[in-house]
Amino acid sequence: MELVEAQIQTISKEQLQLISSEQQCMEALFSAKWPDGFRCARCNHSHAYKITTRRLPLFECSSCHYQESLTKGTLMEGSRSDLRKWYHALLLFSHNPTGITALQLSAAIGVTYKTAWLILHKFRYCMGEADANTMLSGIVRVNCAMYGKPYNPSMERHPQEQPLLIGASVNDEGDPVYVKIKQVFQEHLLGRTIRPIGTRHFSDCHIEPDTDDLESVTARYSSRRFHRLLNVVKKAGQWINTTFHGIGPKYLQAYLNEYCSRLNLAIHGTSVFRYLIRLCVTIAPVTYASLLRSASRS
Ligand SMILES: [Zn+2]
Repeated sequence: MELVEAQIQTISKEQLQLISSEQQCMEALFSAKWPDGFRCARCNHSHAYKITTRRLPLFECSSCHYQESLTKGTLMEGSRSDLRKWYHALLLFSHNPTGITALQLSAAIGVTYKTAWLILHKFRYCMGEADANTMLSGIVRVNCAMYGKPYNPSMERHPQEQPLLIGASVNDEGDPVYVKIKQVFQEHLLGRTIRPIGTRHFSDCHIEPDTDDLESVTARYSSRRFHRLLNVVKKAGQWINTTFHGIGPKYLQAYLNEYCSRLNLAIHGTSVFRYLIRLCVTIAPVTYASLLRSASRS
């Protein structure tokens, strides 16, 4: 397989080697799924027989005979694509700091547009789920923001405008150390204004309940607004518009989750590839149908 994204130079020789054979991808997935060796999901026994009559091996517990496929419980569960394609997609997604479109991915790994779209949205789904389990804490700042038309002088909301809330745990200097950007639900809006129930919902879902240093700004032109947070939203919007040529409200949250995850990983110097591999084997699998359903509510 060729790497068509010539600008990606951070992929190591080992990682390139990995996607050269299905066998190596299976071994890599085995190690990610069972880092301390096989564990039976039913009885916790540590020895299994490997059954290799299928495309992907099955592992049968030698104590209770429970059978588990290599991809069961992982993001790849139920997928008909080779593991090589999944790992290739993971590498391209992880090592391209500006992200990758479904069209680029489909050409790079030789799958249909729909399959590429689904793979990328599964990665974004994982990132969103991991973020949902991470609460803001310490010093927390929240500000209202907008995705869409950069300048709209009218008081009415333009249909392309999406009201957002950005929240961040910040350090003593006010620099964000963990960032979330969330779409505000229609029922939490009054025109362009976020109703108090909207900020309360954000707090309930995303901020540790015992946070005592919390400030929220919900008036757009408040003199107290947090410029550092608004700058993050601006960059997120530019990224979405440049890489993906703009995203409608239905899938916007998935892209915001990807942006924030990449940013949070960069702040902490964590490898996107390693982080995603861990998520692939720890976040419960998701189907195409539920991705379509849940996109706007994540
Ligand atoms: Zn067992």
